[in-house]
Amino acid sequence: MNHFQRKRGVLHAERIPLAALAEAHGTPLYVYSTATLTRHWKVLHRSLAGLDHVVCYAVKANSNLAVLSLFARLGSGFDIVSGGELYRVVKAGGDPGKVVFSGVGKRDDEIAFALESGIRVLNVESAPELARVSIVARRMGVRAPIALRVNPDVDPKTHPYISTGLRENKFGVSVADARRLYALAATDPALEIRGIACHIGSQITELRPFLDAIARVLALAGDLRAQGIHLEHLDVGGGLGITYHDEEPPHPDAYGAAIKKALARWDGRVFLEPGRVLVGNAGVLVTRVLYVKRSGRKTFVVVDAAMNDLVRPSYYGAYHTVELAGLPREDAPEIVADVVGPICESADFLAKKRRMPEPLPGDLLVVRSAGAYGFAMSSNYNARPRAAEVLVDGDRALVARRRETYADLVRGEEPAPRAERFTASRG
Ligand SMILES: *Cc1c(COP(=O)(O)O)cnc(C)c1O
Repeated sequence: MNHFQRKRGVLHAERIPLAALAEAHGTPLYVYSTATLTRHWKVLHRSLAGLDHVVCYAVKANSNLAVLSLFARLGSGFDIVSGGELYRVVKAGGDPGKVVFSGVGKRDDEIAFALESGIRVLNVESAPELARVSIVARRMGVRAPIALRVNPDVDPKTHPYISTGLRENKFGVSVADARRLYALAATDPALEIRGIACHIGSQITELRPFLDAIARVLALAGDLRAQGIHLEHLDVGGGLGITYHDEEPPHPDAYGAAIKKALARWDGRVFLEPGRVLVGNAGVLVTRVLYVKRSGRKTFVVVDAAMNDLVRPSYYGAYHTVELAGLPREDAPEIVADVVGPICESADFLAKKRRMPEPLPGDLLVVRSAGAYGFAMSSNYNARPRAAEVLVDGDRALVARRRETYADLVRGEEPAPRAERFTASRG
């Protein structure tokens, strides 16, 4: 359920027509819905009622400060994967005591920043990382709160680029390594064991892989506790999928109920790291049609958004619904077209082979489900200023990030000093 609905044929974000937002803020434009973000967070939170849990929103899905502060006000924790994301969470008023720090390659300065900030736990993903965390903590004279991210070796049955819980993936440590590393950590005065974590992948549309992973992690947690290793929490990760097209992922209620059941015998706290399911369908990308171009038998709808704005179609082959913001012209012929951007790459497309009423230059198209891994993965490729982001709340719209300017593109750069003219000696 989201708050991007048609009223008399015109697509709205809550109470505002998307066309009005495009008029006011230009295109390409990301639009997020406060009511949808709030609803998604609360539905997941309530589905876990009765379980001592913390929903730690995975910041990488959408790290805009307005989105983070909205979740912070709801009482959310945060899952971060970099020092930059911690900076954002703190800026947005997030509670560092509810922050978990994941990722396979944390630098010393990022570890130090996390320890200074008093985050809940560092999810450690390798033996050398455990050693680094210990060194940095000792240098600072503090104890580092840690969990090990265990790779439960289950197949999440998702796109290979977003599968993380298989033995062959770079993430986490095997169950056998985890046993050894917990024993080591328990003897290290610079480390404080807080819990155990896993995360098996993203856009998962079945419950089975989650439950298999939890069963394996629970079994390990039981063994560790039997050995006298204290575990306060178990972190089940994120990864619940959403409907982009015809996927039928479990409803968050069903997911929450299944997690509760699987953890019925767990008496510690439970952390979750949902990203996409909270923000994916709470955002759209609005883009303007530049041209309809015919080339041989193909038809291209050329728009002003491109792979630098939304890379998921070209990077993962992802499907996003694309539709007109307004009503189609009455006499518009049906076409089958690729929706493409202006970037000089054949992989620059937002949609392929879509049947649609032929738009006219100037019409607005709406790319659905763009709230997760949309703006967050955007770039300045082809020297394209990044899109503006707007957060709608009822009939109000907040510019959550202003559109970049050409000056923003070169911020921090210097033209090279004029090179000495090469003078060949004419001996
Ligand atoms: C990306 C990521 C998440 C969030 O994944 P979603 O599929 O967006 O829910 C959670 N935890 C970790 C460690 C991640 O890397």
